[in-house]
Amino acid sequence: MTFAPDMPHVSRRGLMLILSSPSGAGKSTIAQAILEQDNCLELSVSVTTRSPRPGEIDGVHYHFRTHTDVEAMVAAGGFLEHAQVFDNHYGTPREPVEKALAAGKDVLFDIDWQGARQLTEKAANDVVRIFILPPSLSELERRLRGRGQDPDEVVRKRMAKASSEMEHWAEYDYVLVNTDLDASIRAVRSILEAERLKRSRQKGMETFVAALRGL
Ligand code: ADP
Ligand code: 5GP
Repeated sequence: MTFAPDMPHVSRRGLMLILSSPSGAGKSTIAQAILEQDNCLELSVSVTTRSPRPGEIDGVHYHFRTHTDVEAMVAAGGFLEHAQVFDNHYGTPREPVEKALAAGKDVLFDIDWQGARQLTEKAANDVVRIFILPPSLSELERRLRGRGQDPDEVVRKRMAKASSEMEHWAEYDYVLVNTDLDASIRAVRSILEAERLKRSRQKGMETFVAALRGL
């Protein structure tokens, strides 16, 4: 099933949908499902200095780059936001996001609280921030291990950081506990649909209503 806003004749200001969570809570899984069902939404593919996990493709899941490449991009102002997360550097390339928003698309970001903060400082009216929590710490660990892609030491590090990540939950507009995956996907889709209908985002509405009223 695909869905899209059903008012194509009213132009809309693009929004920036941010999903954050402690690692393993399920944000990439939820993001993937939303993206598959929505042709008005594009994923912002981040740059990272971490190594690809099995199955991860350069340019699809991340742009995998060296520290030197990332430093050059920072110096050139190529990132909308960037931060150190765990032992690596992550950043959102500026150009694709600006292009997508200019083309009237919404953009989905799978970034941490530092990135969410920086995007909020730059575009407070355009961000919609969702924080995703795991149902319990034991379930978080089960998911991190179940993903089967990170070595034991990486899983331990991520579990140790989970509490400080979750400290930032109150900086988000929406918070959901990802117990049932389908319910979480439905919740994120509902948030997206409602946010798209916000009056402030429907910049073509004034003209549309004026025409409806015969003015
Ligand atoms: P994140 O992107 O937040 O690090 P992932 O989306 O990679 O997390 O999810 C971690 C693991 O948990 C994956 O194996 C995923 O299939 C699984 N998962 C995600 N949501 C749920 C859920 N609601 N119930 C059970 N397993 C889940
Ligand atoms: P992972 O290594 O599991 O893919 O991601 C680790 C953490 O980095 C996750 O919390 C993820 O949301 C965050 N992250 C991924 N890309 C970016 C980015 O471009 N900027 C920021 N600030 N965080 C990111």
